[in-house]
Amino acid sequence: MKKTHKSITCILCPLGCKIMTIRKKTGIRVSGQKCAKGKDYAIQELLNPTRVLTATIKIKEGVLPLLPVRTNLPILKDKIFECIRNLSRLEVKAPTKMGETILKNIADTGSDLISTRDMERVQCKQIM
Ligand code: SF4
Repeated sequence: MKKTHKSITCILCPLGCKIMTIRKKTGIRVSGQKCAKGKDYAIQELLNPTRVLTATIKIKEGVLPLLPVRTNLPILKDKIFECIRNLSRLEVKAPTKMGETILKNIADTGSDLISTRDMERVQCKQIM
């Protein structure tokens, strides 16, 4: 394995440490972080980057046309586009509650898609 260098900005707190990683046959060297969490973050970013996916999906009969959603766990970065393709075909019906599971195990990631707000059903006025 070739020796590779990669600079990573830690996003775990507002300090945003610039972390330098050096990957060699013998292992990974990490420097520049101000705490232990940064080292774990940099190694994970290098070997297995994950993200919480946030998006909106279509909702029928809601007071708004789109429902904001997110995954309840971080998912592998490589799976994000597959998840987004699934979301583009998804439509739910109002009402929904904040934290409600909208889709279980999205794209076999082990993460569920949840609603991030309440969405009431639009009230139709009766015409007399
Ligand atoms: S390494 Fe630690 S101090 Fe630096 S940004 Fe990450 S969490 Fe914050």
